[in-house]
Amino acid sequence: MPPPRPQTPPPPATELRQRLAELRGPTTPPHPLDARALAALAANPGCRRRALLDGAGVDKAALARAMGAPATFGQSQFAFARGHAFEARVRAGGGAELLRLLCERLGEEPAVETAVPDLSGGGPQERVGRTRLALEEAVKSGGWTLLFHPMLVLDVAGSPVWLEPDAVVVRPDGGITVVEVKSFPVVDGSADAAKVGAAARQAAVYVLALEALAAAPGLVRHTVLLICPRDFSNLPTAEPVDVRKQVAVTRRQLARLTRVEEIAAALPEGTTFDLRPAGDGGTPTRPAAELEAAVGSVRAAYAPDCLAACELAFHCRAEARTAGAVQTLGRGVRGELGGLTTVEAVLAAALGEDDGALGEGGRDGEDPAVEALRRAAALRNEALTASGAAAGGVLCG
Ligand code: SF4
Repeated sequence: MPPPRPQTPPPPATELRQRLAELRGPTTPPHPLDARALAALAANPGCRRRALLDGAGVDKAALARAMGAPATFGQSQFAFARGHAFEARVRAGGGAELLRLLCERLGEEPAVETAVPDLSGGGPQERVGRTRLALEEAVKSGGWTLLFHPMLVLDVAGSPVWLEPDAVVVRPDGGITVVEVKSFPVVDGSADAAKVGAAARQAAVYVLALEALAAAPGLVRHTVLLICPRDFSNLPTAEPVDVRKQVAVTRRQLARLTRVEEIAAALPEGTTFDLRPAGDGGTPTRPAAELEAAVGSVRAAYAPDCLAACELAFHCRAEARTAGAVQTLGRGVRGELGGLTTVEAVLAAALGEDDGALGEGGRDGEDPAVEALRRAAALRNEALTASGAAAGGVLCG
């Protein structure tokens, strides 16, 4: 009998995929990330919880619902339908209107002929391959090429994230421009600054993904074209948006994300975010307490900004409040308080108490925040004493 052949260990990427599938639930398909989610993830690189859940493809909205803390943000069905209708209008005629707007706003000669390669069908990897080929051919062709919904990929903390911009235009000089179609209006030449900012951050993610895919990353332009409805009509208007700053910030933040395998390796044995309990066909959802314990085993970095960007925000806010964490007061306050991480420690510092509530860095003379709090508390007391004396004087008089 021949000796048994030695088992070849699976490559690390396969092991990681298996581990992430276990965390998500072996029968649960991964919840895809989009550029909006990636921009939000990059905005909070210190949150290991979000990095792991997004990396594992966990549906955070479903998880939040199962824990009794559903998110209340996101686009309504009406907004989705309106967005699709507007995009269809912009794409009509093989993208003629889109190219007209681009040439007009970026000062280009009007396009005479445009190639619109078919990039549809197949899985994400296949579509990324087609997009890469189409980009290479477009750059070589020396003409105009319009790619509708190309598929891009970006490595985020060791996991691939598939991204699909609305459109990408390759110009005769080989320059590659991202085009974002949004349904919020531009009224009298200006739009909601918060929405433009979110669109710019999203476009910056596409720019980074294109740079990773294109053979010559220098060809990817850092000015994107934003197309929105004009005034209160359904007619499109376009504005070039400089996203250099957003690209630099997103690149830096994504590089700071802890790799998903490191976070997964530190989890307690048996941790799972699978909403369905194993082998129990009768119970639709795992008990909230079990899911909360699993979520609580990964460190979060809550900030009030999470409320507009992450499906788990209500859960994380409640957790931070219960712990008395100063993060609930905002990143600015958190930064100012230095080594004081809880409200209890802040109050103890202000009142000059040191009964153990102050952390290691919060003792006298070690943390300038403690000195500043004591000075502020003394000034407040002086002011209160003075106003009390004045009120007493008025009453006596
Ligand atoms: S809500 Fe929670 S999980 Fe989401 S980014 Fe904020 S801290 Fe992280």
